[in-house]
Amino acid sequence: MLISDIFYTNRSLLGINNDISLYIIDTEIPLKLHWIPSGTKCFDWTVPKEWIIKKAILKDSQDNVIVDFRDNILHVINYSGNFNGKIHKTVLDDHVYYNIDLPDAIPYRTSYYDNIWGFCMSWNQYKELDDDFYIVDIESEFVNSSMSIGEAYIKGRSNREVILTSYICHPFQANDGLSGVQLLIELYKKLKSRDNYFTYRFFFMPETIGALALLSQGIVKPENVEYGLVATCVGYGEELSYKETFLGNHTVDNIVKRMGIETRKFQPYGSDERQFSSPNIRIPIGSLMRTPYQEYPQYHTSEDNMDLISHKLITETTDVYYDIIKRYEEEPRYVIRHNGGEPFLSKYGLYRLIGTVGHEEWEKIRNWVIFLSDGNNTISDMVIKSGYSMNKIKDCIKILVDKGVIKLLEY
Ligand code: ZN
Repeated sequence: MLISDIFYTNRSLLGINNDISLYIIDTEIPLKLHWIPSGTKCFDWTVPKEWIIKKAILKDSQDNVIVDFRDNILHVINYSGNFNGKIHKTVLDDHVYYNIDLPDAIPYRTSYYDNIWGFCMSWNQYKELDDDFYIVDIESEFVNSSMSIGEAYIKGRSNREVILTSYICHPFQANDGLSGVQLLIELYKKLKSRDNYFTYRFFFMPETIGALALLSQGIVKPENVEYGLVATCVGYGEELSYKETFLGNHTVDNIVKRMGIETRKFQPYGSDERQFSSPNIRIPIGSLMRTPYQEYPQYHTSEDNMDLISHKLITETTDVYYDIIKRYEEEPRYVIRHNGGEPFLSKYGLYRLIGTVGHEEWEKIRNWVIFLSDGNNTISDMVIKSGYSMNKIKDCIKILVDKGVIKLLEY
């Protein structure tokens, strides 16, 4: 799996390890790189400086090394500031992070925008600390640099875009982030050989600030985007779980619902769907996962590693993404044949089919199908929005097409 080569790079928001990771992805699928310099305003945010960690060692008062970031980058908070000195254990306690529920795991912690310092270690290691004093030696530097974002692009017949994103900023984390990267690489290859209607744009970037940069720098223009999907947490867990777009009844949501996948309402927490869904942006974007972030105990710890995830599950999830995308392109949509308003049904002999069995129900279905024949709704939308079965919707469509009220949208 390609992401095995990326997993052990000390990635963060910016830096050479992110750039190397993108070059590794570029060996599989062609990437265009966007460079966003430190200090660039991204709406209310600013691209930070690059964090360069040179040393992060904790010793006891006898000079025994407790943790050293060279053994595992997770031992130091990502974006930790400098600190050097001998401190009492009670002070150290405020700067150490562990996870009692997973006593052998090292937590993954970040502090990108607050200048704090700290270490992460397993609970089992922490509870053995019985010295009164400890020696902290953290040396880090913050330098002006550029944030790299990789983009793979598949031109479709239409300029309408579908955006597909994942993030590369989590070092030593496999399911959270990298599993989505692997999925997008495989999805790109499948879509590349297809005659696509929409244009597909794949982004590999640091979470949050990467999405904000795309939007604020005009790399992604919301008005051009049909919908999006965030790929993460796709390599662990038997069941699929889909987080709906903020609209909840967008075509992509309805397609997934009709595929029988468990769906969850949008919540304004999670991954990059937050930025894409935010005020003044409002791109409908969903996220198809397996076990979602925060619901598997290894999340944000050293145990979210390559042993946790399965390539088979990632590939199976890729197939589901592909299926969603294909259905979105291929499901029929209908439009009314007249200019606007409801059709004059008597003209078509459709006003009252009195005497027919279930004519009241038929009239309701007929009105739903006409109402949704605006070119934006697929038959999945008609089923979900009306609450009637696919067979009934299809029967009604056939009558309305035969009578010349609606027609198939060609694109
Ligand atoms: Zn995360």
